[in-house]
Amino acid sequence: DLFINNEWHDAISGKTFPTVNPATGEVICQVAEADVADVDKAVKAARDAFRFGSPWRRMDASDRGLLLSRLADAIERDAAYLAELETLDNGKPYAVAFSVDVPMVIKCLRYYAGWADKWEGKTIPIDGDYFCYTRHEPVGVCGQIIPWNFPLLMQAWKLGPALATGNTVVMKVAEQTPLTALYVASLIKEVGFPDGVVNIVPGMGPTAGAAIAKHMDVDKVAFTGSTEVGHLIQQASGSSNLKRVTLELGGKSPNIILSDASLEDAVEQSHFALFFNQGQCCCAGSRTYVQADVYDEFVERSVERARRRVVGNPFDLKTEQGPQVDQEQFNKILGYISVGKREGAKLMCGGGVAADRGYFIQPTVFGDVQDNMTIAREEIFGPVMQILKFKTLEEVITRANDTKYGLAAAVFTKDIDKANYLSNGLRAGTVWINCYDVFGAQAPFGGYKASGNGRELGEYGLESYTEVKTVTIKVPQKNS
Ligand code: NAP
Ligand code: MG
Repeated sequence: DLFINNEWHDAISGKTFPTVNPATGEVICQVAEADVADVDKAVKAARDAFRFGSPWRRMDASDRGLLLSRLADAIERDAAYLAELETLDNGKPYAVAFSVDVPMVIKCLRYYAGWADKWEGKTIPIDGDYFCYTRHEPVGVCGQIIPWNFPLLMQAWKLGPALATGNTVVMKVAEQTPLTALYVASLIKEVGFPDGVVNIVPGMGPTAGAAIAKHMDVDKVAFTGSTEVGHLIQQASGSSNLKRVTLELGGKSPNIILSDASLEDAVEQSHFALFFNQGQCCCAGSRTYVQADVYDEFVERSVERARRRVVGNPFDLKTEQGPQVDQEQFNKILGYISVGKREGAKLMCGGGVAADRGYFIQPTVFGDVQDNMTIAREEIFGPVMQILKFKTLEEVITRANDTKYGLAAAVFTKDIDKANYLSNGLRAGTVWINCYDVFGAQAPFGGYKASGNGRELGEYGLESYTEVKTVTIKVPQKNS
């Protein structure tokens, strides 16, 4: 059901949609499908929860933090159940859901719980007989639209800063993976968030999602997903009420291996950079640039590593790679593999379907990839690695930056000066040196260029959920 005003509701239309186990293609259950009228209902609940003088607005900031902290505790208590449900609905290996996704969710909520009563304004020495200060106020009703690749984690990244700063939320979860978010909704109610502070409306992007993006009574929208839909969200803001927009979008992130790097580490980390989460990461290291003198050995070892990758039942603890999330992504990825072959990239391993049911794809490596090939330019979002050769640092900076995206990048080298030179030159919101996909709730994440607007996580992540109000009071006499 839809979660509105701390209650469970059928969709007004009575419609439901199936959610599918991607490991088998079987329907798990039917989920209520929100549309425009349900989004309206949820926005009204969120607006009412945000009204001046409401329990949520009157609550001490430290108590908001305590509620977030209790939510983290409840998620920790139910970690095994949540990880299991995430694996069932999304297909990611249970071992990963349990040991990576759920712990990161808990840490994110605890991190923002701590911020609730520490997000301070300033007193400002303006000229004249005035006392001037700023207040950090919540923006208001926040629409949050999230994708299917990290359902629980994306929910936490959105809820943490929004609730710590006192906003209310209407969240649309992805149609492929609505289940864990709804379970978290039951915990939100259990730990005592006031009615209407968090509302969760599963539904389709073009209906429920678009209704949030263009709603006249939504003050901000935070979106994670494709760059294509990111354009639509920003346009919807422009043609409605100029709501604040933050976007976390796609990428085609360069991962640069210099010839002085530890090859063993570079191969393993580059494998992880691309194949983690079935290749379904916005920041996947999907253009692996390798310096010419180690190129052949790197390719050989990477192919050997990809061949060893264990693909199969996501509930088997040995499994490294489960199915892709749905038939559409599965078809799209196989399409990119055909295009790669047709455009002349060298297929080194994989390239096909990995099981006779479910959406499993073999770990695939392409060598001799050229910058202008489709597989080097577009986001594949699957277990398909592109290896490219380069000679000089100047050359690789230019080539790495020759993309509309700018989400992440990585450099593998033992030379600190080369690492600094490259990390300064790369136009990306995150640069990892001798590591990949290292995330902390404390460190901001987000994109340059068409990879997005704004930053999530860390102190920076609070800014987009805050309006700064300047209050100026006439005083009889100012003294320094
Ligand atoms: P998507 O369409 O951008 O989905 C992300 C979220 O936006 C989902 O909740 C989706 O709803 C919603 N949405 C879709 N159309 C919308 C609209 N017109 N207005 C408002 N919300 C809308 O992404 P996708 O179709 O699932 O995947 C397509 C590609 O996007 C992938 O192949 C990948 O390249 C990229 N992607 C990136 C990320 C990331 O983390 N940056 C995550 C997922 C996908 P539904 O429930 O209907 O999908
Ligand atoms: Mg979609």
